[in-house]
Amino acid sequence: MSDRDWSAYAKSTYQWEPGHKLHLRMTKSSLTSDFDYCPKSYEYKRIHRLPEPSTDDMTRGTNVHDAIEQYYINLAPLIQKAAAALPEKPAKAMAILQEALPVPDEPYTLGEEPIIQKRLDWDLARLQSDGVKNFLPIINELEVHAYAEETIEFNGEEITIPIHYAGSIDRGFRTDEDTIAIMELKTGKFVQKLKKDKWETDRYKVQSMRTEMAFYKYLLEKANHNLQDVTHWGWVYPAGSTKVLDKLDKYGYEQRSIDNITYESCLGRNGNTYKKKIIRMRDALLTAYLTSNFPPKASVGKCAWCSFKSICPEWGGSDNPQEYLENYEEEK
Ligand code: SF4
Repeated sequence: MSDRDWSAYAKSTYQWEPGHKLHLRMTKSSLTSDFDYCPKSYEYKRIHRLPEPSTDDMTRGTNVHDAIEQYYINLAPLIQKAAAALPEKPAKAMAILQEALPVPDEPYTLGEEPIIQKRLDWDLARLQSDGVKNFLPIINELEVHAYAEETIEFNGEEITIPIHYAGSIDRGFRTDEDTIAIMELKTGKFVQKLKKDKWETDRYKVQSMRTEMAFYKYLLEKANHNLQDVTHWGWVYPAGSTKVLDKLDKYGYEQRSIDNITYESCLGRNGNTYKKKIIRMRDALLTAYLTSNFPPKASVGKCAWCSFKSICPEWGGSDNPQEYLENYEEEK
């Protein structure tokens, strides 16, 4: 729904090589999802631009994101009225929040409504406990671009690489201390494992969410944005409990997926650790470009979800993007 700044993207490319006039584009997805997940899959997806089939999960995610973005825009003139209905009339307040939801172009068919409703339930609870002052987001799908010259040591030489950092931040709220809290909306699963009779959150999930949020914080800093004073970050998983998992994970632990809101400080060690991680990932990506080496990072679980497994050399494939494209066209 946001208007993309296509002219900003025209200044950069993923198909970058030393001496290239354009900047190397780096986004949260390209760096923290694609490249960190597997450099080979980054190469297929970003450099060879191999297409992937869209899934119901992707469509559902887009629909929910679009609805929540528009909901906050529509809610601005209604929020005082909703707040005034509380605490005596929560049903009336909820009806006002629901009034702000956009009518979709096509009726939802992928289970979007309960996810959106859960998000509104949490909003009503927040309005009830915190009041209206900082309720509305000051960031709502904000697209941010930053251009920088980064230097990396390579083969004993210092090499400067022009980088275009880009991203769209779901939401940001002003805190009571007048700083910024950035929040990410996810429509996937949020897994917990039962260990020693206690449900524990999957630590890889938390680490990956912190890494994603650290990219956004870094992006705001690189852009010298007026909303860069980020002291908190968090994420909401309103669809978590709707996800069905196998009862046991591969190690035999009982597992489940839950709805989740996490909100935490990103000052001090937490923020520094993940900022360093972003810089490490960035330098690893730059090194991959400088050496033209995007090695496969295989694992059975991960590769089972990879669209490019049929041509991946790790699985006996030809490593030929053209072969993938021909098969893709045939199967369409
Ligand atoms: S199949 Fe596995 S190793 Fe190969 S590109 Fe995909 S994720 Fe990487």
